[in-house]
Amino acid sequence: MIVMKFGGTSVGSADALRQVAAIVRRELDAQQTRPGVVVVTSAMSGVTDLLSAAAQAAANADHDRTEATCNLLRAQHAEVTETLIDDADVRWRLTEELEETIRQLRRVLDSIAVLGELTPRGNDWICGTGEQVMAPLLTEVLRSAGIAAVHANARSLIVTDDNFGAAEPLVSETESRCQTQLTPLLAQGRAVVTGGFIASTFDGLHTTLGRGGSDYSAAILGAALDADEIQIWTDVSGVKTADPKVVPDARSLREITFPEIAELAYYGARVIHPKTVRPAIRKGIGLRVLNTFEPDHAGTRVIADEHRARQAGIKAISAIRDMNMIMIEGRGMIGVPGIAARAFRAVSDVNANVLMISQSSSEQSICFVVPDDSADMVINALRREFSMELDRGYIERIDGDPDIVIVAAVGQAIRHTPGIAARVFSALGDARINVVSIAQGASDTMISLVVVRDAADAAVNALHQAFNLAQPTG
Ligand code: ASP
Ligand code: MG
Repeated sequence: MIVMKFGGTSVGSADALRQVAAIVRRELDAQQTRPGVVVVTSAMSGVTDLLSAAAQAAANADHDRTEATCNLLRAQHAEVTETLIDDADVRWRLTEELEETIRQLRRVLDSIAVLGELTPRGNDWICGTGEQVMAPLLTEVLRSAGIAAVHANARSLIVTDDNFGAAEPLVSETESRCQTQLTPLLAQGRAVVTGGFIASTFDGLHTTLGRGGSDYSAAILGAALDADEIQIWTDVSGVKTADPKVVPDARSLREITFPEIAELAYYGARVIHPKTVRPAIRKGIGLRVLNTFEPDHAGTRVIADEHRARQAGIKAISAIRDMNMIMIEGRGMIGVPGIAARAFRAVSDVNANVLMISQSSSEQSICFVVPDDSADMVINALRREFSMELDRGYIERIDGDPDIVIVAAVGQAIRHTPGIAARVFSALGDARINVVSIAQGASDTMISLVVVRDAADAAVNALHQAFNLAQPTG
């Protein structure tokens, strides 16, 4: 029994969906012991972005925009229904269900427009609509391809807390629901189709697991059902050594460890949602990243085996763009305890995500990197927190530097291999790339450094070459 998750592009067109049906069928045909497949689907590509924008538009009473979204949603799903579903009765039923969902969506959007306020709870309701309509549609697509598929509503399978926008599953309740509802169906060798990303609280309020959360759904379901494997089907052939748009000779990694993929996911190369690895690790379930559009490619296997990881050195180089380096500077900070603690409290109070804390050469500054779109908010919060110190000149300035890119070299072997940092710096030095700042020790699975935007691609290429990443390792 395995879990197969298909991402937005995999279900984004009639052609892609034919491909999905072929992949599911091949899996079911090949199964011997423990039959059954759980198929987890994302919304069609772009749909969640549209819904999220519509939610915002509703709060601004932009009726034209919300209407346009409803119409687009209808058109995209109707087209797939027309193209792939032969049975007229099924087509009619799907159309009715779609219309009902759109009616409800309109009502929620209207009520947000009346209130003029978008709450996280309302936002989850709206953003989950894409998966909510895709799952029954995919079920019928599979059935018309001759697969014994059934739909199971994710909102009655995955139970979460009420942390809207990034809800966390209640593990034992979710497990018992999955086992009672799904195990009998799977035992018959069926494909059970369910929407990723969406869930509900114990009281039935709609929640989501956060953007990109369908992967996490797949892992939660896989762990709940003790799956033999969790497969993440996407539109790239596994995890690459670097972004092929930046490094033309980047290649797919055959294996990567859980901590490495989590680190890469965090540092820009978001092939899978970082939380996906947790349930898989907890139950020791194998995870594989595969390409719907190149189904015979072996993809990347995500392994727990740290021993093998040690031999492989640096695995991948990634870059995370649109960052801002915030600096707090001043002579009066030397020897004054608690400045850093106050700074980070102020930053966390405005919910900003600190990606990297870097050491400066002097003791007179604290630097850290946040996404550029939160920089103004962070700087204002810090200036408020330290207004007295700024007035008295203990702190001379609090500023941000935009146009910053974090480049990260990822590999668990960093921990065991002396001299990796030296190689990183000599590679960058040889390429005449100026490193603004470095961070070590934040994680023993990677070394990250800050460069200016214009140097980012050159830095990624220099490191890719320095660690021979274009050459497959044994
Ligand atoms: N559709 C959701 C999103 O775009 C979840 C996912 O695709 O994983 O964030
Ligand atoms: Mg996605």
